[in-house]
Amino acid sequence: MFVLDSHCDTPSALLEGRDLRIDNHVGHVDFPKLKKGGVDAAFFALYTSNSLSGEAALERALRELAAVQDSLEACKDLAALAVSPAEAFENKAKGLISIFLGMENGSPIQDSLSLLRFFYRCGVRYMTLTHNGDNLICDSAAGSGRWGGLSPFGREVVREMNSLGMIVDLAHCSDKTFTDCLELSQAPIVSTHSSCRALASHRRNMADWMLKELAAQGGVCQINFYPVFLSDEYALVHNEDVPESGAEVLPSFRRVVDHIDHAVEVAGIDHVGFGSDFDGIEVAPSGLENAGKIQVVFDEMRRRGYSEEDLAKVAGGNFLRVFEDVIRSSNLFKK
Ligand SMILES: [Zn+2]
Repeated sequence: MFVLDSHCDTPSALLEGRDLRIDNHVGHVDFPKLKKGGVDAAFFALYTSNSLSGEAALERALRELAAVQDSLEACKDLAALAVSPAEAFENKAKGLISIFLGMENGSPIQDSLSLLRFFYRCGVRYMTLTHNGDNLICDSAAGSGRWGGLSPFGREVVREMNSLGMIVDLAHCSDKTFTDCLELSQAPIVSTHSSCRALASHRRNMADWMLKELAAQGGVCQINFYPVFLSDEYALVHNEDVPESGAEVLPSFRRVVDHIDHAVEVAGIDHVGFGSDFDGIEVAPSGLENAGKIQVVFDEMRRRGYSEEDLAKVAGGNFLRVFEDVIRSSNLFKK
């Protein structure tokens, strides 16, 4: 079984001085925790807020990239960058955890396909098209519908990502952006960190029709651990900021498995995985407090009757298949 977490916001924590060599008391991710949790690979997202202007977003992404590079240099005996599934398997054989790079929010590329290619060349292998606001590429689930889905530039971005072999990530996108991307993309697409709208109504979550369409195109939905995306009851308390009762309704790791169950039922076992959102969320489910606890999810899945083969798909196999497909279809593009 190869365990892959498709979304950690750890680069922001690196800028605040997190040392990944040690088991930190604060935060969700460091190498001792990833090792304890049996995580073989994690995507570190270069995250920028929609409040930053293009130039400021670019600078922020570069600073996060530089911090990841410094950190990996200092942790050579524990981890290594990977840019393909093949490299991640090689790292695992050497006893190293793989760090993949993603970019959460396309604002750093501004209006430039050249900057998109630059980040690809730096090792970035997925881009979440936007975050909590519309940008030059597309509309966000939290936006005002500026473009009515993908912008004309966004269409060029998706085509260029297809030809580079960069995974299109629709977490945070509006439903119309989702539909536009599915129509346009020549390769399967993913959501790296979204849960199920049928179980928790947040607009950021995937509706059943979205799960079905994603699956029909060979993609994968990676279930997010954020309690606000797992439970309406918790989201209500959280939004009203009532900490004491918040503790009472905090969902446990079992709720994550409820979302996995639902996504499997709707999309099929080949189209579900997990993207924790660790280090990007201020609270985690009980029993799943950090990356060191991830095995509780798989133990619960075993308890619910999943076979080891099915578990391996959800743990990382499905995401790696999509990653391979995206690389393969980019090669076809080049001919
Ligand atoms: Zn996010």
